[in-house]
Amino acid sequence: MAAVTIDGKALALDLQAALQIRVQALIQAGTRPALTVILVGADAASQVYVRNKVQGCERTGIVSAMLHYPSDVDPTIVFDRIAELNADPAIDGILVQLPLPAQFDESAILAAISPDKDVDGFHAANVGALTQGAPRFIPCTPYGVMKMLEKEKVELKGKEAVIIGRSNIVGKPMAALLLAKGATVTICHSQTRDLAFHTRRADVLVAAVGRPLMITGEMIKPGAIVIDVGINRLASGRLCGDVDFDSAKETAALITPVPGGVGPMTITMLLTNTVEAAERRSASVQAGAPH
Ligand code: NAD
Repeated sequence: MAAVTIDGKALALDLQAALQIRVQALIQAGTRPALTVILVGADAASQVYVRNKVQGCERTGIVSAMLHYPSDVDPTIVFDRIAELNADPAIDGILVQLPLPAQFDESAILAAISPDKDVDGFHAANVGALTQGAPRFIPCTPYGVMKMLEKEKVELKGKEAVIIGRSNIVGKPMAALLLAKGATVTICHSQTRDLAFHTRRADVLVAAVGRPLMITGEMIKPGAIVIDVGINRLASGRLCGDVDFDSAKETAALITPVPGGVGPMTITMLLTNTVEAAERRSASVQAGAPH
């Protein structure tokens, strides 16, 4: 039987509608959620991602600003700007679009963002909090995947979850989140010897590699839940995921498409993190804390 497709676009719209209500409540209480996105250089994909993030803010009522620097900017200028934004009580979220040009030390930039405003959840303090099971900001893509599983009422306790990809932004935080829900987690990566051995025993399979159509139906356990994080462009110009959707949907029970699956959820969770930061700011103002 063909798998049911999880509609990430529809869920993203529902969650954004709920966020609009939270934003209105915050504004009435005197706090306007605000996100600043820093873009360095002219990478075409980064420009599209940043534009989508800014548009998402506009749709939900979050104030957004985009600071765009030329690719040869002196990193000190960006570090100084981040320090100003850290100190600005009207800013809830700061996001630096990756990748950065070669003169930047990416990890130093991520460390410079205040953990309280780190809406991407990449700061070491937030990674640590997530790993210890007390997250403050959850990285947006795995957060979106968890919301999809929650919406589909997937019980994760005792399930075999296999993640392909071990990046800091997807694979590793995805593992921490699935582990926290009681799944038995395996992380596969470029050095994994027999990938199909692992994928075939996955009740929940998350593909986050960036290789078009590498996971085929025969690599999937019948009845599995397949989450495709990959975004790849074929020579024809068509977008596709890491999973061969057509063959996988014959074996899986639930599957996410590309486009229209995890992608729309990622931006929605960035907006969610920004609203959560603003709610914390509002609560501390109500409590009379200095800000
Ligand atoms: P990355 O390049 O940082 O990591 C890729 C991972 O794949 C690595 O850990 C590597 O070990 C693993 N890998 C490479 N070849 C492999 C192989 N043959 N077998 C098993 N594992 C292998 O990438 P990333 O930033 O984690 O992104 C992964 C994909 O997800 C990309 O296509 C990216 O565009 C996409 N992405 C999508 C969203 C979204 O919102 N949908 C968000 C972030 C990333």
